[in-house]
Amino acid sequence: MGLLSGLEKFGLEQMDTTNLFEDEKKPKAEQQGQADAPKEEKHLETEFLLLKSIRCPVCDHVFRTRLVKTGRVKRLEPDFDLRPRFAYIDTNKYDVSSCPKCGYTAINRYFSHITSGQVKLIDQGVHSKFKANTLVNAEDALEAYTYEEAIEYCKLALYCTMVKKGSTSEKAYECLKLSWLYRGWREKLESEGTNDRELLSNVKAEEDAYYKQAYEGFMKAIASESFPMCGMEESTVNILLANMAFKLEKYDVSSKLVSAILTSRVASRSVKDRAMTLKEEIIKKLH
Ligand SMILES: [Zn+2]
Repeated sequence: MGLLSGLEKFGLEQMDTTNLFEDEKKPKAEQQGQADAPKEEKHLETEFLLLKSIRCPVCDHVFRTRLVKTGRVKRLEPDFDLRPRFAYIDTNKYDVSSCPKCGYTAINRYFSHITSGQVKLIDQGVHSKFKANTLVNAEDALEAYTYEEAIEYCKLALYCTMVKKGSTSEKAYECLKLSWLYRGWREKLESEGTNDRELLSNVKAEEDAYYKQAYEGFMKAIASESFPMCGMEESTVNILLANMAFKLEKYDVSSKLVSAILTSRVASRSVKDRAMTLKEEIIKKLH
């Protein structure tokens, strides 16, 4: 018996319903094209990218790095934990610069902020061993990064931060970026309807593992470092951590951070609003 059986009485013929949803998207798009409603916008990630020359503070090599044209991208509502989201591009993929000659890699905001002592450490610990990756040549082509490439660079940044004995917050931030990259990758795979269950579960496992690292790192950092931290004010770090703690089911920690935000004299309206929303979520979970 077909899904639409019984309609014969209306004079309608039987229809094959075995693949009811298969072509759902396609006819919709065609319909949109036919009506002279605004055409569906299609954008490539490269439209929002530019190449910028920068000098490596370790080996002095000048190279071109891929950056986001910040004026052109359209901001969307961020995730619960402030992961920035934009239309048509995952800007998280372009937060890292990597010198193709010596291997020195860092999140852009830290790239040129390196002490002479740290330059020596990178020289010994990275430059002396580094084999330039000729397959991934960032120099000439303005191509979008795949998630694999972006993750590779972010891991290289974390490696360099460990070698240069960078701050706890910098390492935590890199772990958070990595977790966000894996999240972006997972979402992409899911939206494409991948059949590769193994890849999907590996990506999810990495996303979770880096998330826990980031959480632990930031919890240590707020006890030992001063603000702003990774460009974030205290209340921003607190709302980030409160949301992370919530996701990790550490409701007591989350609740304490929320209280600190709600009683803060300097926290902005929008941060307090987020804290209020989270407070309601915590109450729901505890009941
Ligand atoms: Zn270099």
